[in-house]
Amino acid sequence: MSNPPPSNLFYQTRLRRPVLARGEGVYLWDSAGRRYLDGSSGAMVSNIGHSNPAVLAAMRRQMDLSTFGYRLHFENEPAEALATRIAQRMPEGLDRVFFVSGGSEAVESCLKLARQYKLARGEGQRWKVISRFPSYHGSTLGALAVTGMSLMSAPFAPMLREMPKIPAPTCYLDRDGLSHEARGLRYARLLREEILAQGPETVLAFIMEPVGGASTGALVAPDSYYSEIRAICDEFGILLISDEVMSGAGRTGRYLAGEHWGLRPDIVALSKGFGAGYVPLGAMVADRLIAETVIDAGGFVHGHTYAGNPLACAAGLAVLDEIDRLDLIAAAARQGAALKGRLEGLMACYPFIGDVRGKGLLLAFELVADRETMEPLPTGLNAHLRLVDIAYEAGLIIYSRRTRGGRIGDHFLVCPPLIVSDSEIDEIMEKLDRALALFA
Ligand code: PLP
Repeated sequence: MSNPPPSNLFYQTRLRRPVLARGEGVYLWDSAGRRYLDGSSGAMVSNIGHSNPAVLAAMRRQMDLSTFGYRLHFENEPAEALATRIAQRMPEGLDRVFFVSGGSEAVESCLKLARQYKLARGEGQRWKVISRFPSYHGSTLGALAVTGMSLMSAPFAPMLREMPKIPAPTCYLDRDGLSHEARGLRYARLLREEILAQGPETVLAFIMEPVGGASTGALVAPDSYYSEIRAICDEFGILLISDEVMSGAGRTGRYLAGEHWGLRPDIVALSKGFGAGYVPLGAMVADRLIAETVIDAGGFVHGHTYAGNPLACAAGLAVLDEIDRLDLIAAAARQGAALKGRLEGLMACYPFIGDVRGKGLLLAFELVADRETMEPLPTGLNAHLRLVDIAYEAGLIIYSRRTRGGRIGDHFLVCPPLIVSDSEIDEIMEKLDRALALFA
């Protein structure tokens, strides 16, 4: 990669990529004219593809009217309409929508609403939010406190009120002779044990990604896990927060991933696919009783300046229109099944692929040193960085992580926009195959 010019911009590291020039459909072009297939929808964001004309037109129409009116001064029609639209697709009773501008803000909102609800009910001793390890819920301090990724939280340890964690249900790594569903129950019951160890009267909520994202690489629990988790939360009066920031908006082949298991959370965090890369947009959706209780008790002590601005909400509405018009939730299920089958096919050629997993178009594969034992590749190989770079050179964008400190090794998310066609899936596979051959 050529040396980038000096810049005033900085992100995580000195790594600089080529300059983005334009996008269309599943493709992005850099300023030198090179084309990349966006095989991870950025960071699992661009669900309806790039430069969707209907969304751009809706944004232009809204820009001509108004782009901002502070929510304490004005209501606005796009925000009202988007809240109604989101509520219509939520599980029964989850119909109070609080807008924010991204996933971390959505998670912060969920944690704070849960706390205020229990305070309003006279249960102020409840403040602990149990989460899973590994997990990712965002990079702001509150969201980081429930995030199970030690590398991300370690520098801030003195500033964080670290929350209790239970192991994520990484059943595919277990060699214990149990059935898949029995493992699901065993992992769910770790929540029960943790609640008892913490003191049930001190526990406020449990937060999880129903289908894992960056931290676990599209981890899906056995069916038994989800109903057991719900039952345990109910047994102890603990709120269930479902983080659908990555898995929502149809990516797994349902509007919310939790629908695959009939999961009825108390509060949901949404973002990514709702703004779909057109605008920063997120939302917390809460059970009506929870939201009303907090409002009646004096109000929700929380908010972000840009929340519910008309431009973001008009874009969000147009995104949902396009998801419906193009039948993208069904497409995610259909194309996801096809792509997953093709990824599984790679296991015959590449013995270092240990697992392929996920739902709909939230898919991942994991590299291992030994498929029998599922021992991860040595850390020093930096496989997660190397393979991404090789694929990038071949014109394919995929997303990778290595979960240090956990049992999961190098994993790679293959999550193209939900509009991906059959021939584009062929192209993903051809480029990925080439990259894996070079990696080997
Ligand atoms: N929650 C989940 C499940 C995520 O995947 C992410 C981002 O990847 C977040 C929260 C944080 O979202 P954001 O990066 O928009 O703050």
